[in-house]
Amino acid sequence: MILGEVFERNAAHYGQSPAIYYEDRVITHAEFLNRAYRLGNALQNLGARKQDRVLILAQNCPEFLELNCACSLTGLISVGLNYRLAASEQLHIINDCLPAIWIFEEQYSERVAEICEKLSSVPQLICIGRKNAKDGCDYDELLARSSGDKPALRAIEQDIVFLVYTSGTTGHPKGVMQTHAAQIEQAKITSNACAATPIDRVLMVMPFYHAGAPNIYLGYAWAGASIVLLRAFDVKVIFANFARHRVTAALLAPVMIQMLLDAPEEIRNGPNYLSLIVYSSAPMPVPLLKRAIAQFGSIFAQAYGMTECLVGSFMYKHQHRLDGAPDEVKRLASAGQPYFGCNIVVRRSNGSACEVGEVGEVTINSPATMHGYWNNTQATLSAIRDGWYFTGDLGYFDNEHYLFVVDRKKDMIISGGENIYSREVEEALLTHPSVFETAVIGIPDEKWGESVMAFVVCRNGEPEASELIEHCQMHIASYKKPRVVKFVEALPRVASTNKVDKKRLRAPYWNLDQQAGV
Ligand code: ATP
Ligand code: MG
Repeated sequence: MILGEVFERNAAHYGQSPAIYYEDRVITHAEFLNRAYRLGNALQNLGARKQDRVLILAQNCPEFLELNCACSLTGLISVGLNYRLAASEQLHIINDCLPAIWIFEEQYSERVAEICEKLSSVPQLICIGRKNAKDGCDYDELLARSSGDKPALRAIEQDIVFLVYTSGTTGHPKGVMQTHAAQIEQAKITSNACAATPIDRVLMVMPFYHAGAPNIYLGYAWAGASIVLLRAFDVKVIFANFARHRVTAALLAPVMIQMLLDAPEEIRNGPNYLSLIVYSSAPMPVPLLKRAIAQFGSIFAQAYGMTECLVGSFMYKHQHRLDGAPDEVKRLASAGQPYFGCNIVVRRSNGSACEVGEVGEVTINSPATMHGYWNNTQATLSAIRDGWYFTGDLGYFDNEHYLFVVDRKKDMIISGGENIYSREVEEALLTHPSVFETAVIGIPDEKWGESVMAFVVCRNGEPEASELIEHCQMHIASYKKPRVVKFVEALPRVASTNKVDKKRLRAPYWNLDQQAGV
């Protein structure tokens, strides 16, 4: 089976139902497939051949989904380019994947021209929103001229359908190849975990050039649901859409949830029909999760995964224990249990499996594991060993097989021979009422090798650094407490995911090239 069959089935079964709500447009499943067929034919007429890369530079918009759908039918490969990256970073990705065709929104025309000047081979260009263009490259005109029949090009299950670049949290983004077969497995698993139905309406605001949004979207598309698509995150717009479209589910990053909770009451208190909010991409601090549950109810589910494996573990909304039991807080910090059909083993550095409660590297064996990194066999071989993907994340299982992700290997601090998980120190700091956000890193220390440093963004005025350090001692062992606290206005974030950019925080202390990371 190929991924495109999901959309053909949706058009056949739910043809007149909305597939996409976007601004003032409503696109039915039948229209959506017709547009994807037209795009597939147009790309073929432009000379695209099986497994050619088609690049898209756009904020979330129906055209992005149309391209993904066209690629899922024709055997072309869709590559989403992160619009928040600098030109040099985008150039790096383009030189890596060498697209045959580049679709972009008009607002990026200047950037596209700037990059094309530096390319030895310029892709064919299609602009979204440049009506009556003399060079005939307007997206809508191209679709209008093309046939809406099923394209002759047809994918097979082993084809690559998406090339997704990782977030670049720990270094340069790497291109991850995903096959139809893996995406189908993924869609089934996600659909199941979210209990998606054809009457669901899922709000998608996370960018489609990362793995998270297409992943949840495909789970809902598998069920024949509708999607409420937003271009960018804006608290007011999100709440307005929750009410207007009777949204039943949403995928959000923890930092977005925090902004929703902090919104003024008159915005927050509109009607809402939500029964599920999935959060993923970064850990959610327990105090924040508790606030979120108190405000929205027990509708939060957590997905732990990565571009390379898509699924890892899932915390169902009913699994958060909020009954005042002694292990309540502990359970809230868990990333859930392995998805059904996906194996997770936490390993010691010699490869053997850890005991319950013992921290090691999280390794995943799942049917949705990537085909490999694009153009980087060496990285593929070191990441996937004997069918297991080594995540670079540290975690442990408790005795009920709940996974706890404690840190990234690269973020763990080793001080005086002791392992200190930056996330644990951050959690301790976040229990202080003045701490709004924090990021903890290791800095060089002559005596201890590394020592703990905390960057803190405050709310309601700054306390003394010593007060915060003492506060930590009430929650964690003394050797883990920060030695240095630096108050900052905001934390640097990785363009696009909003994950804290620790490599930028570390760089001045370790004399590092920021991109190369540690
Ligand atoms: P790069 O691989 O380029 O350094 P990245 O790892 O941030 O960037 P992604 O594949 O987008 O790129 O993110 C996956 C990572 O995000 C996971 O390996 C994990 O560290 C973190 N992550 C994702 N979901 C969760 C979660 N629910 N809890 C904790 N960490 C999470
Ligand atoms: Mg990664």
